[in-house]
Amino acid sequence: RGAAPVPPAGRPRLTVLSGPSGVGKSTVVAHLRKVHPEVWLSVSATTRRPRPGERHGVQYFFVSDDEFDKLVANGELLEWAEFSGNRYGTPRRPVLERLDAGEPVLLEIDLQGARLVRESMPEALLVFLAPPGWDELVRRLTGRGTEPPEVIERRLAAARTELAAEEEFDETLVNTSVEDVAAELLALMQV
Ligand code: 5GP
Repeated sequence: RGAAPVPPAGRPRLTVLSGPSGVGKSTVVAHLRKVHPEVWLSVSATTRRPRPGERHGVQYFFVSDDEFDKLVANGELLEWAEFSGNRYGTPRRPVLERLDAGEPVLLEIDLQGARLVRESMPEALLVFLAPPGWDELVRRLTGRGTEPPEVIERRLAAARTELAAEEEFDETLVNTSVEDVAAELLALMQV
């Protein structure tokens, strides 16, 4: 693991927050949204159905399979991946516009997406969010209570593989407290 490449002069950093399923990425992001509303977060498109309380354009743009196909065909996604039976992708234009305008950008995406960003934007800073322990991860995954058992099983299996991916990342943050991780993430983003 070497030092991350320095972004081109004048261009702030693209930071990618990724990590195993259920590690608490979206909780960190929700906390950032609340405490630091000035930090711009990319809103992904997904074919997954909204969970209770989720709103179109806030957590995600909820789109149909056909709409997602079009986004892919038109090259409108910076990266996309299939995760647990649904597709998720980062709209390209808003991200590039923010970076060109001199604003830092944060993506919260899965590991496959992080790898794709690494390839297309090597200057991006890849941050791995690690769980404090496997037991804790299992508790969080099963405790979400909004998913059927077979979906939870799939997510656990994926998480086992995902934990091995840490070495591909520039930085690791251990998710001991959401406040600490959010502060550390902001420091890494140089916000
Ligand atoms: P969830 O369905 O729990 O909201 O998200 C499932 C997974 O999809 C999480 O690991 C989340 O980080 C990831 N994800 C969300 N948006 C994107 C995206 O735009 N691209 C990729 N590759 N993964 C995403």
